Amino acid sequence: MNIHEYQAKEVLRGFGVSVATGKVAYTPDEAVAAAESLNSAVYVVKAQIHAGGRGKGGGVKVVKTLDEVRAEAERMLGMTLVTHQTGPEGKLVRKVYVEEGTAIARELYLSLLIDRGNSRVSFIASTEGGMDIEEVAASTPEKILTIDVDPAAGISGHHGRRIAYALGLKGDEVKQGVKLITAIYNAFVETDASLMEINPLVVTEDGQLTCLDAKVNFDGNSLFRHPDLVDLRDPDEEDPAEREAAKHDLAYIKLDGQIGCMVNGAGLAMATMDIIKLYGGEPANFLDVGGGATKEKVTEAFKIILSDPNVEAILVNIFGGIMRCDVIAEGVVAAAREVSLSVPLVVRLAGTNVDLGKKILEESGLPIVSADDLNDAAEKVVKAQKEA
Ligand code: GDP
Ligand code: MN
Repeated sequence: MNIHEYQAKEVLRGFGVSVATGKVAYTPDEAVAAAESLNSAVYVVKAQIHAGGRGKGGGVKVVKTLDEVRAEAERMLGMTLVTHQTGPEGKLVRKVYVEEGTAIARELYLSLLIDRGNSRVSFIASTEGGMDIEEVAASTPEKILTIDVDPAAGISGHHGRRIAYALGLKGDEVKQGVKLITAIYNAFVETDASLMEINPLVVTEDGQLTCLDAKVNFDGNSLFRHPDLVDLRDPDEEDPAEREAAKHDLAYIKLDGQIGCMVNGAGLAMATMDIIKLYGGEPANFLDVGGGATKEKVTEAFKIILSDPNVEAILVNIFGGIMRCDVIAEGVVAAAREVSLSVPLVVRLAGTNVDLGKKILEESGLPIVSADDLNDAAEKVVKAQKEA
């Protein structure tokens, strides 16, 4: 689960991480009131969307007067901000964050994420903050350092110092750095985060270390133990189809291709996507309907797949284990009728009562193409899509 910068900073502040003072605003009037209450000589107005790269897209402005705060808030609120992370369609700005300006001496990069390969929490540190870290990684990879912490042992002073040196900190900055690094690590572990990215972490002109930007993701599987974090969810920022899917307990991720997939089991869903690509097609989504592929679930899954205008054919690939293939076939037929399916549908069933299931599909009178195995199914659906 992703949250906004202003929320991420609030979370970090709660763990003692140094961040600039600011307030969120939904209207230009609120933005001006927020700036007034900050009582600063310089303000920063920042568009709040779930994407980075806002600075380059005109979503971050440093200004000096309340009139300029109003003008920037008026400009940003309601605008569609396009950055390299939003895709060409951009994101609608519904709120801005008004912050006290910071006099920056150096911009650094610090992030934490989970390294599944070695079961560690990894700090990524670089002296090249502010800009695209992807670009730094590509052109000067030696400027990016990774320092792992074993979560079983926790963080110690030596980790903090190594990271502080990797950030190029000196003298008193090291002391501040170790404190900030330890606080961020604690925030990361205690909130079950999957990513915390501070870009830039800055050294101010008077030698203070502070987080100017913050991107935080939480592990969705752990949200049941963080009701306070669940409250930070912003439905406006989520894909409507993914939100609808979550309501029906379907694991759905939208992709860019043309072949809609409905599969039970995440492993089979991955294999289905792979084999579609192998036969020259592109999957339009990942969709795991879960163990109980009931008629209701299959119907909802069809609706969600069809809500994507790119979908030109659908492949249903279901293994009937606990669930019998005849019950699944009945569900598929009923759902296809209910949504008056208008694109070619290829169905591959395997498992218990598979013959009965195929018979139901055949006798339904619907133009359903039955497939024998995964290869056959992929070949047929790619052909159907290309001909559609
Ligand atoms: P992003 O572009 O979405 O990553 O937004 P950031 O919050 O990282 O802001 C982009 C850039 O704006 C930063 O790298 C800074 O250079 C600049 N910026 C942000 N806040 C301030 C500030 O308080 N003072 C100054 N001078 N620059 C700032
Ligand atoms: Mn940034």
